[in-house]
Amino acid sequence: MLHSLRKIFGSNIKALEILYILEGVKPAGRIMVKEDDKEGIFSFLEDKGLSFSVSDFKVIKQDKEKPYSDKAIKVPIDSDKKGYFFVYISKDKEKTTEAKRLEGEGKHEELGVLLGYPRCCSVFFSDHFEEESRKDNDYTLRALGKSEGFEFPFFSNIAARHFDLSLLSHFPCSFNCEKSVEIAENHLEVVERYDKEIAEIIRGMLKGAVVYTENEGVFLLRQCKLEHNRLYYKGVMGTGSSQLAEMLKNAEYIDIMNKNRIRLDGLEMKNVGFMLFS
Ligand SMILES: [Zn+2]
Repeated sequence: MLHSLRKIFGSNIKALEILYILEGVKPAGRIMVKEDDKEGIFSFLEDKGLSFSVSDFKVIKQDKEKPYSDKAIKVPIDSDKKGYFFVYISKDKEKTTEAKRLEGEGKHEELGVLLGYPRCCSVFFSDHFEEESRKDNDYTLRALGKSEGFEFPFFSNIAARHFDLSLLSHFPCSFNCEKSVEIAENHLEVVERYDKEIAEIIRGMLKGAVVYTENEGVFLLRQCKLEHNRLYYKGVMGTGSSQLAEMLKNAEYIDIMNKNRIRLDGLEMKNVGFMLFS
């Protein structure tokens, strides 16, 4: 099931989103659909008895060099530039038209709640939308700012979405947000029911440390061991090449001063996000 969804939707995160809706653990979803893929996707949704509404505009993704970008600009539906549609999907037709309307009116909090996100996280998103949408639309460091410490349950690891994996479709208001963890647990249960192996892979990917920067990439550190303030690791997955990427690859450990400050190879780095998910 997940393999065929993956094939149709072209990404793990989108495939999971559809699975949650089909299984009734998510009331509605919103995904971006590439213009050229829309026929295939729409007929798949119809076959599965899912309702959908399509945005009246297209978006063109920015930052093409980044494998995953939250930044996009709106263009008219008849623009000859190829883009993506927002597609609102649910078992309930009304929810899809309502989601489309709320997005059009910029009602982010209500839209979040309709999509099944916790109220606290929808408020968090809405409160910071104006500021973040001028940047990258990435609320990860802001969520970290609202989180206590740097050790969190792996369920709320949204940094892995840069590698096309996540159990959440929203930015949690903090990495300790209990309602978000509960949603992610339900999502993993559904995956497990279909494919134990994929559930295990997801668990493995989400567990580990993350070094998060705005301009130098996002890194997952594998096989971590924290001893006092020193984090030993074996293996790094990164979103691109940068000086930081090289340094992390060559090092065996980093020292954690706090969630925004690490020391790597004798060099102290501020303004990074550090999170340890277990
Ligand atoms: Zn929350």
